[in-house]
Amino acid sequence: MVKREFLFLGAPASGKGTQTNQLSDETGLPHVDTGSLLRAEIANKTPEGLEAKQHIDQGRLAPAELVAKIIEKRLMAEDAQKGFILDGYPRSIEQAELLNGILGRVDKGSESVFKVFYFEMPFDNLMDRIIYRRSCPKCGKIYNEKFFPPQKKGICDVCQVELTQRKDDTEEVAKVRFETYFEQTAPLIEYYRKKGVLYVIDANGTIDEVHERLLKEVNK
Ligand code: AMP
Repeated sequence: MVKREFLFLGAPASGKGTQTNQLSDETGLPHVDTGSLLRAEIANKTPEGLEAKQHIDQGRLAPAELVAKIIEKRLMAEDAQKGFILDGYPRSIEQAELLNGILGRVDKGSESVFKVFYFEMPFDNLMDRIIYRRSCPKCGKIYNEKFFPPQKKGICDVCQVELTQRKDDTEEVAKVRFETYFEQTAPLIEYYRKKGVLYVIDANGTIDEVHERLLKEVNK
């Protein structure tokens, strides 16, 4: 069996979450999203969560070693043995180097396909996508009050529960998240391009349009 390992790169709110959730449903590969894993650690008040919270609330990256530990444990789980979709990891060259070590251990020499999808989108569109973003605390479905509102204002179409806004989706924190992205994460585009594993996806357009472009590259 060939393992399928897909990584997703892109600025905050470039649509990675929506697309990777959908891809996970279609492929059966688990969607491993470091932001959500860290928020779960915070909700459970674990020592890792308490440490990560100080960074997340300010829009900065949580410490690389801490995130690497959480990721390695997640990728060792039974459901990740056929492969996985990594969303929001790695976010720096340091994390990419740590990931190389992690993959050496979790793959245990098995054959794998490794692809990195970069969601390209003009910076201007991103801030509105963040500050109007809301999500369902029950099913995780993502909406946007301005561009993709639910049928009933503030209520999830699927679960009928009240939508919530992430604490770090305010304009002030989002500005720092963008700075962090451009300084630390964007260099990964060249890092993976040089390795010959980068696939650029035009992230403008409807969810279906972007998904079609993504599937074309996934199945190449
Ligand atoms: P996200 O949900 O992907 O927007 O991530 C929310 C926040 O979680 C980020 O702003 C970071 O503070 C933290 N975070 C997510 N992924 C990572 C990572 N790979 N390394 C460090 N911090 C992360």
